[in-house]
Amino acid sequence: MEILEKVAYLKGLAEGLGLDTEKREGKILSVMIDVLEDMALEIRDMQEEQADLEEGLDAVSDDLSEVESYLYEEDEDEEEDDEEDEDGPVYETTCPNCEEELFFDEDVLDDGCVVCPNCGEKLEFDLEDLSQEDDGEDEE
Ligand SMILES: [Zn+2]
Repeated sequence: MEILEKVAYLKGLAEGLGLDTEKREGKILSVMIDVLEDMALEIRDMQEEQADLEEGLDAVSDDLSEVESYLYEEDEDEEEDDEEDEDGPVYETTCPNCEEELFFDEDVLDDGCVVCPNCGEKLEFDLEDLSQEDDGEDEE
């Protein structure tokens, strides 16, 4: 039985037993029952508010989980990208125009040319010369 029901039962009991509210004890008991009823109503309201808060908190928690998983996936992607960068061979050459040192990876090598970031000179590679060391990849 909930508190509110117990208080209602107590109230009915007092009335049923003919509590004399004109006497001092009866008057005090009557006021006490009223106070109990108010408290029971307040507790019920607080429980309802708390249930609403928990619902809201669950919604926020779910949203947060989505954000976390999104961020976590982003991190994983970045780590994979980093690893790819580290694995890829980095080549070095010197710009014949301005003598700036250039670093580039295999992707640039596949294109056959690289543009000097310093002077804008377009450098072309002879792929056969550069890939001589890696010969023996035609085994498919
Ligand atoms: Zn240059």
